[in-house]
Amino acid sequence: MKVIEKINAALGQDQITFSFEYFPPRTDEGVENLFERMDRMVALQPLFCDITWGAGGSTADLTLDIAIKMQNMICVETMMHLTCTNMPVDKIDQALDGIKANGIQNVLALRGDPPHGQGKFVQVSGGFSCALDLVKHIRSHYGDYFGITVAGYPEAHPDVITSEEGATEEAYHKDLMYLKAKVDAGADVIITQLFYDTDLFLKFYNDCRQIGITCPIVAGIMPINNYKGFKRMTGFCKTKIPTEITNALEPIKDDDKAVTAYGIHLGTEMCKKILAHGIKNLHIYTLNLEKSAVGILQNLGLVDISKIRRPLPWRPPANINRV
Ligand code: FAD
Repeated sequence: MKVIEKINAALGQDQITFSFEYFPPRTDEGVENLFERMDRMVALQPLFCDITWGAGGSTADLTLDIAIKMQNMICVETMMHLTCTNMPVDKIDQALDGIKANGIQNVLALRGDPPHGQGKFVQVSGGFSCALDLVKHIRSHYGDYFGITVAGYPEAHPDVITSEEGATEEAYHKDLMYLKAKVDAGADVIITQLFYDTDLFLKFYNDCRQIGITCPIVAGIMPINNYKGFKRMTGFCKTKIPTEITNALEPIKDDDKAVTAYGIHLGTEMCKKILAHGIKNLHIYTLNLEKSAVGILQNLGLVDISKIRRPLPWRPPANINRV
């Protein structure tokens, strides 16, 4: 089933939805662990789960394989990410045909980042230069079979952020209009880039509505799991960090447990604020981790962890013998 249909059904019943993003692990053992974790997390009934496409197409086969197993073995509505990086059209169609043949109806259509060591995105020969063209291609070749999601950037895409203050008004507006073009071309859901300034997300949400974007806009939440990862990710995405978050993190940055606990607290407060504005669709960038994603949803009263089929890894099973 398409994610848009599931979102509309949930919205019709005034329900809050959440979903989980995962990425393909590097080793076979990692893949095995990921499926175990997913299996537990799917018991919490996310609306869908998605799997990323490696930078530069580096994990294409693995992403395809994982997506097919998610849909058919883990039995969760699956969305596969697909980027244009190093992907001529015939390879794109191979990937789309592959998931279609396996019952997957959801694609996150992306341009992708340049491959490692390459500063600027360069269109591969016979491929596409932007997500807009990928969306158009999917609609023209596959009709309405796929639900298409696209990426939205509450602070504008990093390529157009040229100073510490963020994107200029003009660049931000151009980015928004480009997002609208992706939706007008056939995308039916937007998932946002991570953000930590919830007010900026709310402004972006209202601005999208103002320019006539009417489709669901799903808030992308990345729990802070450790300080180094947080700095790396926000540096790469040029994300604005509110002063109170910097002030809270600096004194505890070497204490991973404290950082995780703060990340759960912060993620919970951000989601509460988003939900208070009537925005009901949350998407958690799990980074393949369970504790923070589940912790936030639990704090929000959205999940019942007794539904998790196996004990969570940070809790000893009830029958364990302690010495
Ligand atoms: P586009 O929508 O094509 O836009 C990129 C920028 O170019 C924007 O600033 C846009 O305004 C500008 N632009 C492009 N074409 C035009 C045009 N014709 N006219 C005007 N402006 C234009 N990366 C991965 O490698 N794998 C993943 O799985 C992955 N998943 C992601 C999931 C989400 C939810 C998000 C937010 C990002 C993800 N990314 C992923 C990162 C993404 O690939 C990068 O941000 C990439 O640089 C841009 O992809 P895009 O689809 O947003 O590009």
